[in-house]
Amino acid sequence: MKHLDEYRDRRAAERYAALLARLTTKPWTVMEVCGGQTHSIVRFGIDRLLPEGLELVHGPGCPVCVTPLELIDKAVEIALKPGVVLCSFGDMLRVPGSTKSLLQAKGEGAQVRIVYSPLDALDLARKDPSVEVVFFAVGFETTAPATAMAAQQALRLGVKNFSLLVSHVLVPPALEALMSSGKNRVQGFLAAGHVCAVMGTEEYEPIAEKRRVPIVVTGFEPVDILQGLCLLVRQLERGEHRVDNQYARVVRRGGNRPAIELLREVFEPCRRKWRGIGPIESSGLRFTARYAQLDAERRFGVAEREAQEPAECIAGLVLQGLKKPRECPAFAGRCTPESPLGAPMVSSEGACAAYYRYAREKVS
Ligand code: SF4
Repeated sequence: MKHLDEYRDRRAAERYAALLARLTTKPWTVMEVCGGQTHSIVRFGIDRLLPEGLELVHGPGCPVCVTPLELIDKAVEIALKPGVVLCSFGDMLRVPGSTKSLLQAKGEGAQVRIVYSPLDALDLARKDPSVEVVFFAVGFETTAPATAMAAQQALRLGVKNFSLLVSHVLVPPALEALMSSGKNRVQGFLAAGHVCAVMGTEEYEPIAEKRRVPIVVTGFEPVDILQGLCLLVRQLERGEHRVDNQYARVVRRGGNRPAIELLREVFEPCRRKWRGIGPIESSGLRFTARYAQLDAERRFGVAEREAQEPAECIAGLVLQGLKKPRECPAFAGRCTPESPLGAPMVSSEGACAAYYRYAREKVS
């Protein structure tokens, strides 16, 4: 199979669903890590094709959803400073902070712009030296290399009016944290194919071994997900725990070496708070000493900020696979995409947005 259509082929999906039913003899709880996979699952009704006893729970792989409230507040505070142009991806603008979102700050006069790449923000800085351009960098290992490239170019070109508010996060420490939680019910993971396209699959091997948990690196189309589930359930049924690669058309064990080297030059791991979940050791990226001058938190003096999550939003439980969006009392009532209480209702990779869009009425 080489083309997208083949991965959405109904008959192929039905064949894998039938195989999955034959493979499943016991109840299993498995997590798809990535919000992109969650959207495919809910959109294409894959959860309704699963055999009885096989439960899919949704994971923390939505970068917008896990960006801590404090970071949104810092972005808003920076954006409201005179002479600042704050750039980010579109999804970030409507995520609620403690008091307001970036979109609301824009309504109050802040210069907030949507860009499609951090390099667009760097271009903006180079074209207008009279403003301070800040890129709000959010995402997993997938988008971090583009941020690193913008930082590297800014330093190389000596662009003084450009900085980055960095909120990049890493998947493997989050899986470790989920597995070590006393509340964990996940027995196997579908890992995110695009993250592994950058980082490879090697770093998942110690987790599979230590936690005795099977991990299948999986793509995003319906056939990818059903194929990934077959590989995962086969391991679970046999009592195995290794890393399999369903997304071999894209992912290599060693990943993308130039991208990994770039990340290592620009960033180092740090403790990072995940929204709704809390701090996880070595789960974030911060600038290495050489690039620290580009750190917007330091440049604008906003490093120390604390914020309280809204009590009504159970996003932390949703992101840990402990609840489904429709179990949230606010779902589709007090919380909608137009008036969100939490990030998973806003983000294009958020589980609550997926259920709102594709399965609002469906009974799980
Ligand atoms: S439905 Fe809204 S309030 Fe409930 S968990 Fe999702 S984002 Fe939070």
